[in-house]
Amino acid sequence: MVVLQRDEISAASTFLKGGKLVAFPTETVYGLGAPIFYVRSILEIFRVKKRAMDNPLIAHIGDLSQAEDVAVEIPPIFYLLAEKFFPGPLTVVLKKHPLVPSIVSAGLETIALRMPNHEIALELIKSVGQPLVAPSANLSGRPSSTMAKHVIDDFGDSIAAVIDGGKTQYGMESTVINLVSKEPCILRYGAIVPEALEEVLQRPLVKAKENEKGSSPGICYKHYSPTALVVVFTDREKMRCYMEGRSSCLFVCEKIDSYNLYEILRLGDEEKCEEIVIYCDEKNSQDRALMDRLERAAKK
Ligand code: AMP
Ligand code: MG
Repeated sequence: MVVLQRDEISAASTFLKGGKLVAFPTETVYGLGAPIFYVRSILEIFRVKKRAMDNPLIAHIGDLSQAEDVAVEIPPIFYLLAEKFFPGPLTVVLKKHPLVPSIVSAGLETIALRMPNHEIALELIKSVGQPLVAPSANLSGRPSSTMAKHVIDDFGDSIAAVIDGGKTQYGMESTVINLVSKEPCILRYGAIVPEALEEVLQRPLVKAKENEKGSSPGICYKHYSPTALVVVFTDREKMRCYMEGRSSCLFVCEKIDSYNLYEILRLGDEEKCEEIVIYCDEKNSQDRALMDRLERAAKK
């Protein structure tokens, strides 16, 4: 894979227009991109990530007018949310435009879209001239990539290029909200807290149950998991006792936050540890996105 610098957007754009895959930074995590109307490239995304074909992709738009290229019957609250949170780490599920290939939404009649708040991503979308679909640039089930090195470790030469934009700003995925359901609801906790959305919508938001119709198919899969076992503690004393009794190779993290989470999980594997033992202080255990990812990472 070629490592491109931030001033090499046109090379990245040439790869994408030639049907090759390019990973790029966003403010959340790195995405693995393909133009939204390039069905063959999108199939290749599923293949290289080993992603289940029923797990839909997020369309990344470069300006608000592109929302109308991928969605129809857009409700006014979309524009309310967009005004406040675009560009930014909010993904909105709307009714899909019939011209968007069904592989993008894994056969669903809805489409998830967001506008990333990252110069490189926005410039790349502009240069390609159409929205880019971009799932997180990691092998399915593995921790997301928050730096170019993670993308290289996961994909090697199976994709054409990665644009190196350094470590991502949030290190946590976008919050996903469904505007197609009867009442707007959160499909995935992420970088924007629900309270901020509630303030704009002027109503309380519920979290969709995972098995509920219309919920996010991707959240049902094993996710964010390193090879090592992940064990999480919110009580320091319990953590100390646990570690005392272990003879296996432990990777110990005393201070976790959503910014460092994926880096820590990947480091544990890199150092070939059998277990990653994480302490979460009281403040961090209030962070729903972080706790959600930790819970999934810790699933055996
Ligand atoms: P990632 O694959 O890491 O980019 O995550 C994308 C997330 O968006 C997954 O949890 C998907 O299930 C979710 N998603 C994408 N499209 C839709 C959709 N049309 N409806 C509901 N969730 C979606
Ligand atoms: Mg992902």
